[in-house]
Amino acid sequence: MELLLTDFLDRAVTVYGAKEAIIDQDGDAHTYNEVYKRVQQLSHGLSSLGVEKGDRVAYLAPNTLEMYEGFYGVFQTGGIMVSLNTRLKPEDYRFILDHSGSKVLFVDYELVPLIEPIVEQLDTVEHIIVHGEKEDKSGRPGYENWLASFPDSDFPRADVKENDTATLLYTSGTTGNPKGVMLTHRNNYLHALSIQHHLRVSDQDKLIHILPMFHVNGWGAPFYYTANGATQIMQKKVIPEEILEKAHKHNATVMHMAPTVLNGLISKYHEAKPETPDNMRLVIAGSAPPKAFVKEIEEEIGWEFYQVYGMTESSPLSTASYISTEEEYEGDDYYAAKAKAGLEVIGTKVRVVDEEGEEVAKDGKEVGEVIVKGPGVMKGYWKNEEETNRTLRNGWLYTGDMGTVDGYGRIAITDRKKDIIISGGENISSIEVESVFYDHDEIQEAAVIALPHEKWGETPHAIIVRKEGSELSEEEIISFSREKLAHFKCPTAVTFLEELPKTASGKIQKVKLRNLAVEES
Ligand code: ATP
Ligand code: MG
Repeated sequence: MELLLTDFLDRAVTVYGAKEAIIDQDGDAHTYNEVYKRVQQLSHGLSSLGVEKGDRVAYLAPNTLEMYEGFYGVFQTGGIMVSLNTRLKPEDYRFILDHSGSKVLFVDYELVPLIEPIVEQLDTVEHIIVHGEKEDKSGRPGYENWLASFPDSDFPRADVKENDTATLLYTSGTTGNPKGVMLTHRNNYLHALSIQHHLRVSDQDKLIHILPMFHVNGWGAPFYYTANGATQIMQKKVIPEEILEKAHKHNATVMHMAPTVLNGLISKYHEAKPETPDNMRLVIAGSAPPKAFVKEIEEEIGWEFYQVYGMTESSPLSTASYISTEEEYEGDDYYAAKAKAGLEVIGTKVRVVDEEGEEVAKDGKEVGEVIVKGPGVMKGYWKNEEETNRTLRNGWLYTGDMGTVDGYGRIAITDRKKDIIISGGENISSIEVESVFYDHDEIQEAAVIALPHEKWGETPHAIIVRKEGSELSEEEIISFSREKLAHFKCPTAVTFLEELPKTASGKIQKVKLRNLAVEES
């Protein structure tokens, strides 16, 4: 049997047809049977627009019912889902839509202004449909009315194979231009089976979709929560108060998010008490939080915490910070372990290698490049053979991330290869320096980047966002770091900002910060 993503919704309908599948962005509930009907209508609709196997269908939408059903509607036709990041510039949309050769574009009604400046210039998009009831100003059909004109009978499925591409996702563009990552049905399917095991997903779960589904399929969430007949709550915007209130109201049990978002959520959590989600069992975030933060979440708030590590190119998750019974941690060491990227997930091999490709010592100290092998690893970059060959070598995915591995196989990410600061011949992990600042009571956000230096080659430079009301000075910040770190690792200057530039997935864009700091210096 071919492993196809459509299996997941099929199973949910068979086993959990009358169960609440989706609580949409307006708070209305839809059963699996109801969602399935809409998916049939969508597939018929796509087919009427000429979508066939292999065609690309683009979505520009936050987390909504329409976005969710898009995955399954497109997969049934054999089409490829191209989900667009909602925080790009019109020019970026033009690039991705043309590069992917998308034929149809669905747009959330609130996001239409983002594409307005470029619609006339698109090479391949033949139809644009706006999520909502009514047609928009330019006469584009409104989704609900359009959908209603198609039958909800079973759609005759395309002849799809497991190694056919299911999703074409452009990377976050943290380090440069986004690249189109081709993930097959098999990639997404086996990743989903592995991750649902590690997160212990069940039909009792209620996921609140905070992480955008357009970003690496929300780490596969629309697949494994569906496969298990769980309920998925749609959250359009990242507003901490609103998330906490919704999670409380609908008894959410799980949340996935970027660490920067978790940071904001926890600050609001303490203010929001007692209207806080009390059924929450697990929170997962994708980057290293300080150990004290993990302790606070687990001990004070009582939610289990996992850090996960991965990239678009690996479906995405390769490790999770669960604790194996082999590991012997006591007291704070337990939280320190949880604050690392973690252990490889089932089916995936994760290794750390030096420049010669030899594995580094398993001492948690020697730094090398993290490489990954497994069924989640992409087919390649869309129309970019050069990058594909550079990234996929001898069956391994070269992540461009630097890290260490300890005797238990626990991986810690120390930096991106491109973000390491090399000062006076010493490698400095920007993440290590940043984590020191996150321990400071008056610092909201911190980023450390390399600035060119005549004598040392490069020098660490800190970009700091102070908490409201704080008047922390440059000298105080530098001397705080000197108490905690070897002097060569400490920033030599500080820039203060109101906010750090981030990608739509919440990642700090160091390229932008470097340009800014170079301009200033
Ligand atoms: P681009 O490749 O276009 O520059 P990007 O790498 O940010 O963008 P994604 O695929 O969304 O695009 O992000 C994957 C990257 O995020 C990883 O390669 C890694 O650098 C970072 N990352 C993910 N999880 C973690 C983690 N737990 N700790 C530290 N970094 C992480
Ligand atoms: Mg990347």
